[in-house]
Amino acid sequence: MDDPYGFLRYPRQEPRKEPAFRRIRHWHEYVQPMRNGLLVRQANRCMDCGTPYCHEFCPVHNLIPDWNSLVFNADWYRAWQQLESTNNFPEFTGRVCPAPCEDACTLTLADQPVIIKSIERAIAERAWREGWVQPKPASHQRVERVAVTGSGPAGLACAQLLARVGYRVTVFEKADRVGGLLRYGIPDFRLQKTVLDRRLAQLEAEGVVFSTGVQVGSDALTAQQLQQQFDAVVLACGAQQPRELRVPGCELGGIHYAMPYLTQQNRHIAGDAIEPGQRIDAAGKDVMVIGGGDTGQDCVATAIRQGARGVTQVQYHDCPPERVDILDYWPERAPVRRAADTAEEGCRRIWGYDTVAFDGHDGQVSAVWLQRLLWRKTAEGGWQKRHADEPPQRRDAQLVLIATGYAHPVHDALLADLALALDTRGNVATGDSDYQTSLEGVFSCGDMHRGQSLVVWAIHEGRQCARAVDVFLSGDSELPLV
Ligand SMILES: Cc1cc2nc3c(=O)[nH]c(=O)nc-3n(C[C@H](O)[C@H](O)[C@H](O)COP(=O)(O)OP(=O)(O)OC[C@H]3O[C@@H](n4cnc5c(N)ncnc54)[C@H](O)[C@@H]3O)c2cc1C
Ligand code: SF4
Repeated sequence: MDDPYGFLRYPRQEPRKEPAFRRIRHWHEYVQPMRNGLLVRQANRCMDCGTPYCHEFCPVHNLIPDWNSLVFNADWYRAWQQLESTNNFPEFTGRVCPAPCEDACTLTLADQPVIIKSIERAIAERAWREGWVQPKPASHQRVERVAVTGSGPAGLACAQLLARVGYRVTVFEKADRVGGLLRYGIPDFRLQKTVLDRRLAQLEAEGVVFSTGVQVGSDALTAQQLQQQFDAVVLACGAQQPRELRVPGCELGGIHYAMPYLTQQNRHIAGDAIEPGQRIDAAGKDVMVIGGGDTGQDCVATAIRQGARGVTQVQYHDCPPERVDILDYWPERAPVRRAADTAEEGCRRIWGYDTVAFDGHDGQVSAVWLQRLLWRKTAEGGWQKRHADEPPQRRDAQLVLIATGYAHPVHDALLADLALALDTRGNVATGDSDYQTSLEGVFSCGDMHRGQSLVVWAIHEGRQCARAVDVFLSGDSELPLV
């Protein structure tokens, strides 16, 4: 440990955010970079615990205490080397990861955790600025060809590692641009697309070939053609089948699922023309966002930036308490109320309501009916809910955005043609650690296999899947085990 008293000397200090009144007028990232001196002091808060739970609870097992120490000693280059040894894309996780590592930080027990995510982002950005992020092409080329279907973080991590050990990798993507939800889900104000593009240029320089606008499983490229042309196939198509909200009035105009809305706005910012009449615009409207989570928050923040008259976010569950006994949960995340950036930006959150119907006129939604929910803890520790004995409430809304989560991957022609076994939740089933589906030589990773999850889990699975493919094709692998 470099300085055992660092955490006593310096309180946690998070990066500054551009004030809400200003940031809602543009689409750029609003979390500001931190000064070096500040970062060094914050890294110095790390106690280098005997058992670093932060490392254990980070899905890619970043070597957090090691790079904290290196940052404290201003050895940014070695900090970068440590970081990139476990995480292909720390510039993404340093921006959008919910940081389970920080919940597990030992300081959480008595104080505030180390700002691990912000230090990760700072190391990654330093590396890009200094030119340390360079392509790492394979020293020898192999003959085997691998197809990766889907270009989200899982497909990209998998493709990158396979290319680095010499496989000829082609990534097929049905959208017109590469990146999956990093491109068309998460908005620019949380992840600027230039951050994605510079990483994609590195993958291309390492030999990864991207083929966009190709829906695998369609006539353009059938699943069987893919199997014939490639020695191994990785499916990383995400889990984008929305959980439906089938209540009276749900067919009205002005009611949209989150992804078409967010995708369109991301395209708009990228300069794509949106067909007249197709634009989903919150300007001047009362907007109701149904559902919480990252997707719900992104819908709220997007609607605010589009100029909504007012935005209300409806949560199904009761409002969590402000405080709990941390010992009942640590090192897992404690279920406490967390400040949302969107609250500062003007969103109103209401908790414990079920959406039971929509009203409309001339085919357009005009209001949402909400029924109060009563939640009760069961003897087994689960939760039971029932509608309160009171009339539902009517709230005006001319735009409704449904962000109630994703059930499983889209069960499209690709899955039907391959007749792959699915798990009980409808995700693609694989072996415990070999990521191989019920078809030999066909692998799956990321949300498609895991169900709706996180960028960092997608990267983790992409990395492990690359190793599994390498073992399948060559009998052994030097790729990392975690
Ligand atoms: C709005 C939103 C915000 C989010 N915010 C966060 C966040 O802040 N932090 C976080 O950690 N996670 C967040 N997530 C979750 C995270 O984005 C996902 O867990 C992650 O992107 C999953 O990666 P993936 O590679 O498995 O799939 P995806 O990113 O979904 O990529 C799958 C790709 O496969 C393509 N594809 C599908 N079928 C085919 C086919 N047949 N042929 C060719 N291509 C195909 C799709 O077009 C897509 O590009 C968010 C999700 C959403 C929707
Ligand atoms: S990837 Fe996420 S969990 Fe891992 S160190 Fe970074 S912020 Fe923490």
